[in-house]
Amino acid sequence: MGRLISIASGKGGTGKTTTAANLSIALGKMGYKVLAIDADLTMANLSLVMGIDDAEKTIHDVLAGTAEIKDAIYTTRFENVHLVPGAVDWEHVLRADPRGLPGVIKPLKPYFDFIIIDCPAGLQMDAMNAMMSGEEVILVTNPEISCITDTMKVGIVLKKAGLAVLGFVLNRYGRSDNDIPPDVAEEVMEVPLLVVVPEDPKVREATLEGIPVVEYAPDSDGAKAFYELAETVVRIA
Ligand code: ADP
Ligand code: MG
Repeated sequence: MGRLISIASGKGGTGKTTTAANLSIALGKMGYKVLAIDADLTMANLSLVMGIDDAEKTIHDVLAGTAEIKDAIYTTRFENVHLVPGAVDWEHVLRADPRGLPGVIKPLKPYFDFIIIDCPAGLQMDAMNAMMSGEEVILVTNPEISCITDTMKVGIVLKKAGLAVLGFVLNRYGRSDNDIPPDVAEEVMEVPLLVVVPEDPKVREATLEGIPVVEYAPDSDGAKAFYELAETVVRIA
C-alpha cells in the first residue's frame, strides 16, 4: 500500500508546489513509484513546474465528472514519476467541485508507493478537501513569524482531523538577516523540522525551465535539501 502525503501551508508562495515537485522526483529516483497530484484547483501550476503544458485531461475534468481519473494520469520525463495535472482556465475551475478530491485521490493508494498532493494554502474549503485527501502531511513554511504561526494553525487543524503531521520544511532560509532560526521555528511549530531548504537562485531558475531543481541542478544546495527531505520521509514511514 502506498502513502498519501499532502503538502500544505498557511500562506501562499511558501514553496508547496516546489516541494511537491522535487520530493516526487527525488522519491522517483530512489526507485519508488510516485504520483504527484495538482490539487490546488484555483492556482494550479504543478504541471508547469514539471514541464508539462499539453495535458488533455486534468483533475478539473475528473471533478467535473467529464473524465475518469485513469485518463488524467500522465507519465513524465522524470523516472518513476506520474502526474495528475490541473487546468489553468477559469471555466474548468468553475466546473470542478473540490469536495470530490478525497473520493478521487484516496482510491489510488494501492497503485503507487507515494502519492504527493500539492494543496492550496490556508484552511478554506478547497484547501481542506485537498489536504484531507492525504493521510499524512508535510507543512511548508518560510522563516517569518506570521508564516510560521499560520502554518502551525494548519498543522493543528489537520492533526485534529486525524492526519499524521510528519513535520515541516523550513524553506527559503537565509534570504534575510531577520530569518527565524531553525531551532526557534521548531519550538514554535511543535512538530519536527524535516529539513531546512536554503534560499537558492537555482530553485527559481529551475522553476522557469520546467525542470525541478533536483533534476536541473542536482549538486545545488537546494537540490541537496530536497534529496535529504525524501530520505527523511522514507525513513519515518
Ligand atoms: P506555493 O506553491 O507554496 O505557492 P511555490 O512552490 O510556487 O509556492 O514557490 C513560490 C516561488 O518561490 C517560486 O517562484 C519558486 O521558484 C520560489 N522558491 C521556492 N522555494 C525556493 C527556494 N528554496 N529558493 C529560491 N526560490 C524558491
Ligand atoms: Mg503552489
